[in-house]
Amino acid sequence: MNHNRGILIVVSGFSGAGKGTLMKRLLETYDNYALSVSATTRSPRPGEIDGKEYFFKSVDEFEKMIAQDELIEYAKYVNNYYGTPKDYVMQQLEAGKDVILEIEIQGALKVREKYPDTLLLFVTPPSAKELKERLVGRGTETMDVIESRMKRAVEESEGVEAYDYLIINDDLETCVKEMHHVIQSEHNKVSRCNAMIEQIRKELQEI
Ligand code: ADP
Ligand code: 5GP
Repeated sequence: MNHNRGILIVVSGFSGAGKGTLMKRLLETYDNYALSVSATTRSPRPGEIDGKEYFFKSVDEFEKMIAQDELIEYAKYVNNYYGTPKDYVMQQLEAGKDVILEIEIQGALKVREKYPDTLLLFVTPPSAKELKERLVGRGTETMDVIESRMKRAVEESEGVEAYDYLIINDDLETCVKEMHHVIQSEHNKVSRCNAMIEQIRKELQEI
């Protein structure tokens, strides 16, 4: 069967769309997922723990990780570096977990270039007004940073067509179920089931 190796999934979406909230519920609800922890040079938000939400790095440390080829991809987002450490992702895929990278669009495109069978999901709130309300409501950024992130959202909205599925985060629980279904259906894509198809062909010839 070809179902042993996990699927690599990229989840992107406007800042404030609810990606972090969705990922948390998805991992609490289902046990076949592993979430990659990125490295970043941005400062921790209150409550964020090094090694849990991110590996918090200095610019020097981050540039060393780049030089030593420890990252699958990295990008600059609103003045900070963000990148995906390679080892954990590879280990979890081998162990059969579906591995989720919650990364922005430049990184998403780099991952797809390297691993063409990556599943790309784009999360959006139902409206731009709701996006701004969520960003303001989260209360973790200054109005300046919120404005930069809203501007960045305008740019990111131009890249949505590169993704495989749009995930609309209106009601959270509905959205979590929908995302799980999309990912599980992906396991049955014919192009991912070569071993199973070969096996059934062989059995049919033998019977
Ligand atoms: P992101 O990780 O995409 O930047 P967050 O997960 O931090 O977004 O969510 C941004 C804010 O929106 C948070 O305050 C969160 O509680 C809220 N939020 C997330 N999903 C929903 C939803 N479905 N309905 C209402 N509020 C939501
Ligand atoms: P935040 O500062 O809100 O946690 O994240 C800002 C943006 O960086 C989000 O769009 C998030 O998805 C993205 N991001 C987080 N980790 C990575 C990563 O490893 N690589 C890339 N390319 N983007 C990331």
